[in-house]
Amino acid sequence: MDERVQQMARAYVEQGLSYAQIAEEYGLTRQRVGQLLGPLGLASAREAASKITREQRLRAAYERIMAGEVTLDRAAAELGYASGGSLRSVLYDAGMRVVRDQEEPPHGTASRYRSRRFACRCEECRRANREKCAELMGREPPNHGYSGYINYGCRCKVCKEGHRITLRNRKAAKRRRKEVKV
Ligand SMILES: [Zn+2]
Ligand SMILES: [Zn+2]
Repeated sequence: MDERVQQMARAYVEQGLSYAQIAEEYGLTRQRVGQLLGPLGLASAREAASKITREQRLRAAYERIMAGEVTLDRAAAELGYASGGSLRSVLYDAGMRVVRDQEEPPHGTASRYRSRRFACRCEECRRANREKCAELMGREPPNHGYSGYINYGCRCKVCKEGHRITLRNRKAAKRRRKEVKV
């Protein structure tokens, strides 16, 4: 194979460049690149390579987050995700769970009631949570999405969609856990 075509094939498979990007780099037309690389049947090799890259990128980000080198939001921005929350669910789906090393919130606070790990349903915690709900309800949420739907009662398109997606993801995760048990 022509040395130049070999280089282009590597750029296509390993760096994940598109025909158009390669064409620009090598001063060719997009069609010409297609004529050269198309017959080599590289599509599945490219897909496999990009999957590994994505997984590796996620893994690397996960390790940095857990080591406290970057915040979830920062890592999300670096990887091009809309928010820390969306990166968190992508990581979760890939089997990497980001848990904050949180302290136990005291009784009589909404955070204690809402904590996944320390959730308490005593009378004090219930009351604090009710008060918090009443306080936030109907206000403009700082971020629209699942939290806007639940905590602020916002029913805009983004909040509805966020709520729907979170419920769906939770159901899917539950189903997966069940399947593993069986
Ligand atoms: Zn309590
Ligand atoms: Zn909203």
